[in-house]
Amino acid sequence: MTSSGKINLLGLSREKLKVLFAELGEKPFRADQVMKWIYQRGIVDIDLMTDISKSLRELLKEKTEIYLPNVLSEATSVDGSQKWIVEVASGSKIEMVFIPESNRGTLCVSSQAGCSLDCSFCATGKQGFNSNLSAAEIIGQVWWANSRLGGYQKKLERPISNVVMMGMGEPLMNFENVMDAVAIMMDDFAFGLSKRKVTISTSGLVPAIDKLKDYTEASLAVSLHAPNDELRSQIMPINKKYPIAELLRSVQDYMASLPDSRVPVIEYILLRGINDHRQHARDLAKLLENLPCKINLIPFNSFAFSDYEASTATSVTKFRQILQEAGYTVTIRTTRADDIGAACGQLVGDVADQTYRSDRYNKKAKSKFGKIFNKTDNLAVMADRV
Ligand code: SAH
Ligand code: SF4
Repeated sequence: MTSSGKINLLGLSREKLKVLFAELGEKPFRADQVMKWIYQRGIVDIDLMTDISKSLRELLKEKTEIYLPNVLSEATSVDGSQKWIVEVASGSKIEMVFIPESNRGTLCVSSQAGCSLDCSFCATGKQGFNSNLSAAEIIGQVWWANSRLGGYQKKLERPISNVVMMGMGEPLMNFENVMDAVAIMMDDFAFGLSKRKVTISTSGLVPAIDKLKDYTEASLAVSLHAPNDELRSQIMPINKKYPIAELLRSVQDYMASLPDSRVPVIEYILLRGINDHRQHARDLAKLLENLPCKINLIPFNSFAFSDYEASTATSVTKFRQILQEAGYTVTIRTTRADDIGAACGQLVGDVADQTYRSDRYNKKAKSKFGKIFNKTDNLAVMADRV
């Protein structure tokens, strides 16, 4: 429902749209028509949906609307990446980032305003949690980015080839809305993205990974970040609830459920002196020996008042070499859009925190800088890389 009390057509999966049309006494193919208008042609004015009869359009306008989240600002990095700040219904502001490369265009999408999981190296976590995004607010990010990138004008070009749920928030904490949005990303009547090219990144919510196979065939990235429970629990509190062995078991089960042969990406952020020792690399190689996977090493992106430093180039190279010698395919994530505060883990938006975690963050700011930054300041500070 939107604030006007109408049903928002944006964000309804094809299945849900069919149910809606059945309730309106209409045939299921109406769902296909509406999806094509919204997601393939970029039309959000029901009056312009000309293959739908006038009487049905009137009925649709009476009961429904197409309500997009509001884009507040746009920034372009020197490397060509773009970041948009989007206002969601709760009043919070969230961020999404487009990363163009020669052979693909990746959109990094947010799933929550803030995040409750409090990983110690993550700026989003430091902002605390405000709200889950609705399916409309999640797919609305793809709609907007596609629109801003000219995707609705140039029919032949598809600016967005990949979507990663690696923006603000833990996607599996917002399960149903993320599943609906992901279904629309992959739907042939909507964005038609390949299931291999839509990636859900999770910090390891085991019960949600266990039910994933009943809802999607999206690719999976797992934020592991440590080779043992002691260290992982220190930097990722969620590990106390779902330790590594359970996590890897659930990831393996999900991958086994997929009809094509695919492997998960294991994400490993490199924090200087914390988890980047050679022994950590050897332990990681041993830990993952029964899980076919790719490993993505992520240089730590700093943000205001963060406790960590990025690993040195030598440690990164050595870490990679140990894993490669053990037979793994290893990539190192290039830091993009750092100059506009849009690199991994730097996304903060402007979140009205409900957990008081940001108070702790602000206390730290006060002791370090002699002032409390308000949330907009935080964004500016991040963009300036204090
Ligand atoms: N909540 C999900 C997805 C969003 S975070 C998750 O944790 O997987 C997306 C990725 O950015 C994760 O791998 C996360 O660990 C990483 N990340 C978080 N903070 C970071 C930072 N400061 N520098 C680099 N990567 C970071
Ligand atoms: Fe949340 Fe992911 Fe950040 Fe952890 S890394 S606080 S799970 S967004």
